[in-house]
Order: sequence, then structure tokens, then C-alpha cells
Amino acid sequence: MVDALDLPGLRVIQIHPATLASASEGGRVRRVEVEPTFIPTACPKCQSTRLYRHGLRRQSYADAPHFGEPTVLEVHRRRWRCRDCKTLFPDPLPEMDENRRATGRLIRFVQSRTLEHTFASIGRDVGISDVSVRHIFDDMVRDLERRYRFATPRWLGIDEVKIIGKYRCILTNVEKNTVYDLLDSRVMADLRTYFRQFPNRKDVELFSTDLWNNYATVAKEFFPDAIVVADRFHIQRMGTNGMEAARKAIRKGLTRKVRLQLKDERHVMLKHGSRLNDRGREILGAIHRDFPSLALAWRCKERFFAIWEQTDRQSASEAMDAWIASVPPEMAVFFKEALSALATRRNHILNYFDHRITNAYTESINRLAKSINRMGRGYSLEVIRAKMLYDTNALKKGTMVERVATPVLDDDAGGLGVGYMTYTTARSVRSRVRYDTRLVCYGAHIPTLCDKLEAGAFEDQPAGIQLPNTCSSNCALQNGN
Ligand SMILES: [Zn+2]
Repeated sequence: MVDALDLPGLRVIQIHPATLASASEGGRVRRVEVEPTFIPTACPKCQSTRLYRHGLRRQSYADAPHFGEPTVLEVHRRRWRCRDCKTLFPDPLPEMDENRRATGRLIRFVQSRTLEHTFASIGRDVGISDVSVRHIFDDMVRDLERRYRFATPRWLGIDEVKIIGKYRCILTNVEKNTVYDLLDSRVMADLRTYFRQFPNRKDVELFSTDLWNNYATVAKEFFPDAIVVADRFHIQRMGTNGMEAARKAIRKGLTRKVRLQLKDERHVMLKHGSRLNDRGREILGAIHRDFPSLALAWRCKERFFAIWEQTDRQSASEAMDAWIASVPPEMAVFFKEALSALATRRNHILNYFDHRITNAYTESINRLAKSINRMGRGYSLEVIRAKMLYDTNALKKGTMVERVATPVLDDDAGGLGVGYMTYTTARSVRSRVRYDTRLVCYGAHIPTLCDKLEAGAFEDQPAGIQLPNTCSSNCALQNGN
């Protein structure tokens, strides 16, 4: 008889046809009675070989689907007693996960699907509860977190992204262009809980953020020595917002036709003046002629943008003062967000001129914020987080080989400390300096993630799993009959 089970150490006694499981579990379940083939020869406690059989128990373990049907293995598990130390122990079942009451291959099968399907649909298709699927998923994430410890960023970015209808907090490594972590909420209490446990906080030298007050509080409480850099992109948007507020305010007295025309032409008003083409300049000229207050708002926005054209902190500071002084009283109401930011966060905004975030990073994070909307709606945030952080390709791209010179101390044992996925591949000692090549994991590479998102890799999957007659490649039942 060909053993359809193909699990080392277990032999099939009888295969029952699939029957309806209990009402609570739902669906059909195939039951297979099996017995261990390995007979223990020594007591696990005292190594004595004087053992005798002491009864038998039937224990059920969920297995990967057989021929597309949820399957339970009913193991005839013998118990043994040691004549010398009286220890009672059952047959060892190395292929089973005792905590989850499942075969190792079912665990792997479920894990391979948690990132693609909802917990409920996986549970239905393999005949276990969605709570069990969640436990298996949590185990997997814990294991991933152990295997891939991301190095604490020297330059930590904190940003907002809207995922499944809510603003979440995304932490990035600005220099390496990677995602460091994704948090469910940006509420202060949650941020405190998270940052209290943030590893190697002292390694963070720069902290870049938008103007959300909670993040400034996080910086102050947890990264007191880090330089806070207010993100240029978010502040410049305040200038754009001011322009829009002015347009919306004047449209009230206009006819519908003119209102719609202004709405169509708003991109011309919002665009950087220097980037307008001839047609754009023409439209802008007409708007300025017909609507003097829009012309005023437009000039406020342009002068605001000009602050970031300054090349150093000092001239930027002067440009800020000049801008504040130049805003006409009737425009202040539209630009109040920008005026208030310059008043309260001036230092953080000016820090940008000493620590410029590269365009590559800014473009990546904006692209991510846009393409993340393609993330499926059937998933929990934990799944989305795991998908993002532990995407194999993005992780690989976010991992760097670095060569570092370390001064050699007399008692240097060669340890590189924790916080890295580290190993040393080459080492030489020259004038008391050691050169190490190490592989450091910095998280998921943002452009790689964006490529995947835009290709639709994370979109909703159909609710049910299409289980073929042969199972997945990690299920050994393909040849069973
Ligand atoms: Zn013993």
C-alpha cells in the first residue's frame, strides 16, 4: 500500500470518507486514523531501556487539506512507563505542533496563506477556527521579528498614511529609504507605549516629521538629543492650502460658470510660478486681472515657497521674517496655518536647511502614501504591516553590506552588539583598527514596495481559497491516491 500520508514517523491505519463536521465547525472534514511508527527505546528522563506500554489515547491534530478537503489526523498515541523512574510519557510526535494541535505542515500551509487571504477564509478551507489562524499568524510575525531585527535609524522619519480608512503612523529610515515600522494609531497614549520600548533610542540623531503636535511631543520625550527637522513637503502644502482657501472664499459672489472655470484653472494658481508654461502664464494673467484678491493670494503663496529656495539657514530665517511681514491683513486668515507654523515651529522648519531630506526619499514616501490605497480592504492592519515590513524583495533591497572600521580595544572580544542582523565576513587588524564587513537590515525598501503595490500585489484576493486536488508545494500529499 502506498502511504498517502507521507509524514515521517506516522502510518495510516484507516482513511474515512469526508463527513460533515459538527455544526460549530461547519463544512466537511476528512478523518484519517494514524499511528506512530517509531517505538521509543529509552526513557527521556533516566535513559533506562526498561519501558512498558501503558495504554493508548486518541489525539486529534489538524492537517493540511488532503485532496482539497480539510483533514484531521486521529493519532493512536501510545503511552509508555519507565520501570526505573516511573516516568510516564507518550509516543514522540516530531511532526506535530503540540501548542497548536496541528501538523507542522499545516502550520506552514496556513502561514504561506495568511498574507494573501483573510483569516476566516483560510480557517474555513483548512477546517480550523479563524482564531487558530490568527494564533498561527502571530507566531509567524514573532518569528519574523526575531529573524529580522531592523537597525535603529540614525535619521528617523515619522509620517502619516491613510490605511483602511484611518490615519496610521509610519516610521521610516530616511537615509536608507526604508520602512522601519507601521503603527496602528497616532494617538499619544499609543505612541508613548510604542516609543517606551523603542530600541537604541540614543542612536537617533535626526527626527523628521510633519507638524502634527504629537510627533513633536514624541521627539521631546523620547529623543531629547535628536534634531527635529520639520518636513518641507508638509509645510509647503500649507502655502498651497492658503491659496485654495482664498479661491474658495471669493467664489461665493460669482456665477456658477465663473466658479467652475476658476476650479478648472486652480492647478495654474497652485503650480510654482516659475514652472508655468506660456499658456499657464496667460491664464494666470487673466485671473490676476479679473480677481485682484486672488492675485494677492497667489503672491503670498509664491513668496512662501521662495523661503525654501534659500541655500542656508540664515537667509531662510530672513526670508521667513520678510514673508510674515508681507502677508496683507486680509490674506492672514487664509494663510493662518502657515503663519502659525512659522511662529510655533520655526526652529524645526529652519533645521531643514542644515539637514536636507533628499528628493528621492520625499518622492518615495509620497508615492507610498498614494499607492498604499491599493492595499486590500479585507485585511487587518497587522497583516498589512507584516506584508510591508517582511516582504522578501523589499527586505533584501533594504539590507546593506557595510564595511566599518572599529578601533580595537585590548579586551575587545569582537562583539558587534545587538540591533543588527549581523555577521562578520572579513576581518583584518591594521594599526589597531579592525575592519568588519557586516550585513545590516534596515527594513523594507520603499520604492520596491511601491512597485509591488502599483502592480497590484497587495490587492484584495477572492474570499475563498481555490484548493486544487493537489495541495500547495509544501503539502506532501500531491502524489497521494
Ligand atoms: Zn526513567
